[in-house]
Amino acid sequence: MSNPIPAQVEPKQSTEPASKYWLRVALDVPLDDLFDYYHDAAVVIGSRVLVHFGRRQMVGVVVETPAQPVFEAKHVKAIDMLLDDTAPLSAASLQMAHFAASYYQRPLGEVLLPVLPLSLRKPAAYTGKRAAGGPVARLRKRRKAAAKTAVADPEIIVLNAEQQAAVQHIHAVDGHQTVLLHGITGSGKTEVYLAAALKVLEQGKQVLFMVPEINLTPQFEQALRRRLQKDGEAYPVAVLHSGLSEGERLRSWLSLEQGEARVLLGTRLSIFAPLASLGLIIVDEEHDTSYKQQEGLRYSARDLAIWRGHTAQVPVVLGSATPSMESWAHAKEGRYQLCSLTQRARTQSLPEIRLVDTRRAQLEEGFSPQFLEAMQHCLDNKQQVLVFLNRRGYAPVLSCTSCGWLSQCKRCSAYTVLHRSKGGRTYLQCHHCGYQAAVPRYCPDCRDQDLKAMGRGTQRVEEFLAEHFTGARVMRIDADSTRLKGSAEKLFSEVHAGNVDILVGTQMVSKGHDFANLGLVVVLNADSQLFAQDFRAPERLFAQLMQVAGRAGRHTAGARVLIQTGYPEQVVYQSLLRQDYAGFARVTLEERKTVGLPPYSYQALLTADAPELARVLSFLTVAKEQAQTLTGIQHVQLYDPVPLRIVRVANSERAQLLAESQHRPALQQFLRHWRHVLTPLAKEYRVRWVLEVDPLEI
Ligand code: ADP
Ligand code: ZN
Ligand code: ZN
Repeated sequence: MSNPIPAQVEPKQSTEPASKYWLRVALDVPLDDLFDYYHDAAVVIGSRVLVHFGRRQMVGVVVETPAQPVFEAKHVKAIDMLLDDTAPLSAASLQMAHFAASYYQRPLGEVLLPVLPLSLRKPAAYTGKRAAGGPVARLRKRRKAAAKTAVADPEIIVLNAEQQAAVQHIHAVDGHQTVLLHGITGSGKTEVYLAAALKVLEQGKQVLFMVPEINLTPQFEQALRRRLQKDGEAYPVAVLHSGLSEGERLRSWLSLEQGEARVLLGTRLSIFAPLASLGLIIVDEEHDTSYKQQEGLRYSARDLAIWRGHTAQVPVVLGSATPSMESWAHAKEGRYQLCSLTQRARTQSLPEIRLVDTRRAQLEEGFSPQFLEAMQHCLDNKQQVLVFLNRRGYAPVLSCTSCGWLSQCKRCSAYTVLHRSKGGRTYLQCHHCGYQAAVPRYCPDCRDQDLKAMGRGTQRVEEFLAEHFTGARVMRIDADSTRLKGSAEKLFSEVHAGNVDILVGTQMVSKGHDFANLGLVVVLNADSQLFAQDFRAPERLFAQLMQVAGRAGRHTAGARVLIQTGYPEQVVYQSLLRQDYAGFARVTLEERKTVGLPPYSYQALLTADAPELARVLSFLTVAKEQAQTLTGIQHVQLYDPVPLRIVRVANSERAQLLAESQHRPALQQFLRHWRHVLTPLAKEYRVRWVLEVDPLEI
């Protein structure tokens, strides 16, 4: 162009710039649209820009540079600033965002922006007195984070034959292939990941290593630094998860973008990280539901990992002791390559699993005599006990013994849970909306003072065990005991250091942790999950119990797992007894096939809410009627609208409508049209709505 103005120079108010460069910008707004702006110099696609949108200032991403704006040119505004302190998003990143937006039926801006570190998408980081050149410049001025030095690896591990075979399979992948690494708990899947990663690093490429939970990152970070080395120097590892500070997150992002970091260890959001020389993706515990985001863009990081691996032509390794039915079916059909680790790496045997039939047992505070005896025996042997109970708080409900009143949340159709704070004060809390209330001194209905805590949560169990096993050191790990940053890590290190005899925990303790001296796992109240309405409930229960059982006896023989149940004959429990994942998967998949459930069909779930259920149901009913004329509907089955099991949460009443199809493309096409019908309809009925593709919970 004839008169290019440098990007840094702001055009003067009075004179029009010599030429306008039109930009289509994606913004994080819930509108299914891109927005026109112009700049007085050419802008590279993928650049971030600061713009005025309505009365607000926002950061957006340039996704097109068209010859003409869609909007009438004289109304198109200039951008406020080109944010060129980081490299523009790569073509690969944009391509993935386009895919995710279209697959999950969301506006592009809702995909592109939220995955950036906050300071790169916050206008305040670039404007105002303290902006000082923007967040990147400010970060560079600060002291560099001390480089983590390589630590010598204390032991040399020789891979066993199964591990070697798995590593060779991964190494042999040319281009893309998804490898499902099915290894029983303690079989040494991590060693396979590390060996596979090392070779990719030696080729100068980057490795993306995903874990389901923040709590697992410290343990893996250590392993990665210790084991991924070259000539005594560790390959630089970046970490990404939602628990990082803004500065830490930006630092990780920049080091990845510049190719400085060679390994990315992170939770689901790391699937969107910039990795220019990606060579391998590992998804540990691929079945874990934490890989599915439950708000905003409801993506599955595992599914996106496979898409990304395919697009980048690199292998993807999915690891699990209990793969999801989707992945297992793919492996059985030959779409994924199956590698199995059938032996434990350090011990000869898996822990023995036994069921304790509660129909015949005399329980003390929820514990059968068999449980208490086995615990005593284990403590006598100087081994640790894990008590697993997936219910936090002191007791799930408070009740009046004379009239039957139950503590109910004012805002939800759910009970409030009795909690006990550190100081011993008790209060009621709703686990759905967070509402808190004092414990009433007498029954609000009949004024009787005899109120009783019904059932038990981890706090009550902790209290009982400390009394029952005098002298034993009891510790509780759940969402309540680990609220503060770093506190989970501290509690876990106490367990690893042997300063704990009995660990009481929720699913937080069941995943991934390699406890060296755990001789016994006891499971309370597993049945509560058995009869949930969701068709995936047994699958989840099986995976969870296998996981938690797998924490026992990882380094020693003779460990035991005891599960209390009133339904020992159920398939889930019988398969657990035999530790037979394949058998469980076979039965489950056969059932799903017969009735046409995923993975033999594809689903999308429309959920709506409003203060009154009637309006929500009318909206869904009309949404279903209007769907009948849309393209693709002939391949899609729409079920009737149904209220959710917990219908009211935070004074909002909720219902949903399930769409199902045997053909994914037809469903996708239908959803695209349906979505445009739903937007005005929801306005008319004054309801909020979300459309979730591949929902995990129905
Ligand atoms: P998984 O993730 O499959 O449950 P891990 O990878 O945590 O299992 O391995 C379990 C334990 O076995 C770890 O302590 C690990 O260091 C050890 N281990 C793995 N492979 C070997 C091997 N080939 N020889 C000796 N120990 C091993
Ligand atoms: Zn009463
Ligand atoms: Zn509530």
